[in-house]
Amino acid sequence: MTTVGILGGGQLARMLALSGAPLGLRFLVMDTVADACAGQFAPMIVGDWRDEDALAEFASKIDVATFDFENVPAESAQWLAERVPVFPSPRALAVAQDRLAEKTLFRELGIPVPPFAAIDSRDGLDAALAQIGTPCILKTRRLGYDGKGQFRLKTLADADAAWDALGAQATTVGLILEGFVAFEKEVSVVAVRGRDGEFRAWPLTQNWHVDGVLSASLAPAPSTPEVESRAITYARALADALDYVGVFALELFCRDGELLANELAPRVHNSGHWTIEGSETSQFQNHLRAVLGLPLGATRMVGEACMLNWIGEMPDAFAVLAEPGGHWHDYGKDARKGRKVGHATLRADTPQELAQTLARVGKALGRESQVEPVIAALR
Ligand code: ATP
Ligand code: MG
Ligand code: MG
Repeated sequence: MTTVGILGGGQLARMLALSGAPLGLRFLVMDTVADACAGQFAPMIVGDWRDEDALAEFASKIDVATFDFENVPAESAQWLAERVPVFPSPRALAVAQDRLAEKTLFRELGIPVPPFAAIDSRDGLDAALAQIGTPCILKTRRLGYDGKGQFRLKTLADADAAWDALGAQATTVGLILEGFVAFEKEVSVVAVRGRDGEFRAWPLTQNWHVDGVLSASLAPAPSTPEVESRAITYARALADALDYVGVFALELFCRDGELLANELAPRVHNSGHWTIEGSETSQFQNHLRAVLGLPLGATRMVGEACMLNWIGEMPDAFAVLAEPGGHWHDYGKDARKGRKVGHATLRADTPQELAQTLARVGKALGRESQVEPVIAALR
């Protein structure tokens, strides 16, 4: 009996555990809070990431470790890796945890990026603003997620407000200034690399964000074969450079036929949730196969898929379940403003059918504004 340890007990760990059950796997989750939603399906150890006793107990009970939470301190991941196999490696995790290291690596690999500069003082911000110009975004280098730890500057007059908001973090988690990309669309490559270096990518996914949080994902992304293969080539170069093992997502902006890399998520990703029903093999199943050294499953699609995120509170399930291709995921979390509490995936055989399904579901749930951009992209 193989036990997979997962650092972090959110919905990603929960969906990993659900998809690993048919493989006969057991799971042990570690989280800092006792009510983490993966705990409803797997035994849990509650402890701080730097708590060596908790980590030692975790390590003693598992065969391999992986992540639901990408911000586990790199030293804790390293400590664990000296005792049990950890995938992806602490090194890959460390790169993805730091926007500066990540963007520097993208650039080294020839993956285009928006202009960026590390910021460590108020003067440094002015110097970077002179170089990058506005509009731009000041971001924390570490620990940001769902658009948190970001300040958008429209003009140079916003510099004081940006520094007031984030300046104190320049010496703790670090800051980076990035040029604002007036993108036509956002896409992601969700891909998997095995222990033996085998690489597979799911079809390109288009993503829509609201207030910095993912709202909807559509696969396959309306795109061209050339753009899709360029995106996948970037993802592969990155995975090979990091000797990456497991599933990851590369987020990209599309502008004038150009692809600019935004960030690397070193784990299964929200923009890949549609793979549960929309692909031959889900990202969760393939992540487990990769970390266990098992053959990877095919990543081809089964029809067209759209995932809708439920943020804050769950809507009523009826309208989605009433659809022939409707699938419901309730993470078992308490409602809370801004929190990802569940998602739905709608699947259909053609883009036209998917658009009709989305229109029905959007209307029934009063979420026309969430489905409208996806329907427009399907036209
Ligand atoms: P995630 O939840 O995806 O990890 P995050 O907090 O790490 O989010 P980003 O992905 O960097 O943050 O930014 C969130 C969203 O903000 C992006 O998906 C994009 O819509 C917008 N955004 C971020 N950086 C830029 C940029 N340089 N130009 C234009 N839009 C941007
Ligand atoms: Mg991120
Ligand atoms: Mg992102």
